[in-house]
Parts: sequence; structure tokens; C-alpha cells
Amino acid sequence: MSPLFPCSRCGVQIERSVRLYREQKGLVLCSTCKDRQEAEDLASTNTADHSTAPENRTSGT
Ligand SMILES: [Zn+2]
Repeated sequence: MSPLFPCSRCGVQIERSVRLYREQKGLVLCSTCKDRQEAEDLASTNTADHSTAPENRTSGT
């Protein structure tokens, strides 16, 4: 069971692992805010390079 953390943007309670919370240095985003964040990042950098993903998803432990 994962604990609940408030989204750092909208404050909604989201379920995240403590490890992820620490990796993100307390900045956890709900899915909605995360999508917006990524859209803003793309807009700010304004590069059409989709080959590099900012997040490294590790499957399994
Ligand atoms: Zn949010």
C-alpha cells in the first residue's frame, strides 16, 4: 500500500511510492499536472526531438 502525497501543483492527493517521492525531491505531480508540465517543458524548449524521454521508467525492481 502506497502512501498519499499532495500534488505539488494542484494539491490533489495522489498515491505514490516513498521511493519515487524522494527521487522527485518531494515534487510529485498528479497525471493531469504531469501532462501539463511536460507540455510546458516542450513549449519552453521548443525542440521537436521526441527521442529523448525525460523520465526513466524502470520496470520491475
Ligand atoms: Zn495536480
